[in-house]
Amino acid sequence: MRRISIFGATGSVGANGVDLIRHAGGPAAYHVVALTGGRNIARLARMARELQAEIAVTAHEELLDDLRAALEGSGVEAAAGEAALMEAAGRPADWVLSAIVGAAGLAPGLAALSQGGVLALANKESLVCAGALLRRTGKAAGTTILPVDSEHSALFQALGAENLDSVKDVTITASGGAFRDWPLERLAAATVAQASTHPNWAMGQRITIDSASMFNKAMEVIEAKEFFGLGPDRIKVLVHPESIIHAMVTHHDGGSIAHLGAPDMRHAIGYALHWPTRRPLPVPALDLAALGALTFRAPDEVRWPALRLAREVMAAGGAAGAVFNAAKEQALDDFIAGRVRFTDMAPRVEAVLADLSAEGDFGADPDSLEAVLHWDRRARRKAAA
Ligand code: NAD
Ligand code: MG
Repeated sequence: MRRISIFGATGSVGANGVDLIRHAGGPAAYHVVALTGGRNIARLARMARELQAEIAVTAHEELLDDLRAALEGSGVEAAAGEAALMEAAGRPADWVLSAIVGAAGLAPGLAALSQGGVLALANKESLVCAGALLRRTGKAAGTTILPVDSEHSALFQALGAENLDSVKDVTITASGGAFRDWPLERLAAATVAQASTHPNWAMGQRITIDSASMFNKAMEVIEAKEFFGLGPDRIKVLVHPESIIHAMVTHHDGGSIAHLGAPDMRHAIGYALHWPTRRPLPVPALDLAALGALTFRAPDEVRWPALRLAREVMAAGGAAGAVFNAAKEQALDDFIAGRVRFTDMAPRVEAVLADLSAEGDFGADPDSLEAVLHWDRRARRKAAA
């Protein structure tokens, strides 16, 4: 029986993963090793009971007693805290869904790769912070990293077995998020609640706000570079308000191959779950006649300065990705807490990049978790409001 784990099971991607496992036969079809979550103990316990997991882990040590109580009589082991998370990540599994949000997903992802499991990677922060380290770890363990981000899954599927030499460039699409059509002068007053609604996708709060600021797309451009080994000049962003085309590969012969689908993460997660085969998924097929029209716009770098920052980060190389991600996470924390305005986030991230590069360059690609975390901590300190 295939052994699987889900890190961040209680989140938006994680819960979709649990739903897919349920559809694919649940505990009768899979041996679920570990499910992890945060403060939502009831949800974590419910999932662990249903899938008969070996172990359920909450990231918060102080919630261990609550988790134990919620799992009483189930036969599921309860554990809490960072060390428990790492222990669970080291348990042999054939397939691991990395769906924790933020740089916190990197260490468990590396541990899961090291034990030889396929890593289905939703946690794009891992690739932005430590793409080279992740790839090297996967290679050493003889295993595969599969994209779960919808655009990257789309590129992976559209590329198939194509030779990258025949590829002119790739395009990832962006809905434009909550403020796509807002007058620019209103953006400074945008509230957290307004930034936390997405026109097409149902996602966690942080990625939803990152969609409004386009930091999400900026991260995804870097993710595409790290994942597919394409130079920055071969990765394009296209605003596509309907979110039906997720990505497109354009060849030197002038032809393009696009991947289309409803904006439903269960496609990309399910594709990674069943890879290299394709199985039916609980995702509705498209009805293009009912949709009628698909529209496109060029990205506006005045509205979305994060896109320009992504190019600067890729040009800088080394630890710039780890700094960019950490500064963005801190700026987002501060926006959510009401300490800074929506439009303060990008200038703050830009200032952290400038300050840290002025103190010495970003060096070579960080070659250890400790090296990544060192840059991560420095950047967060600089970015704090
Ligand atoms: P979410 O906030 O809904 O869920 C995050 C999960 O991580 C939860 O289980 C939470 O308990 C756990 N978590 C949070 N902080 C943690 C910490 N410090 N230590 C351990 N666990 C922690 O987030 P999400 O929207 O599901 O996104 C998860 C990841 O997938 C992110 O990297 C995001 O960018 C990526 N992603 C999400 C979507 C989507 O549709 N939601 C699409 C593409 C990529
Ligand atoms: Mg995406």
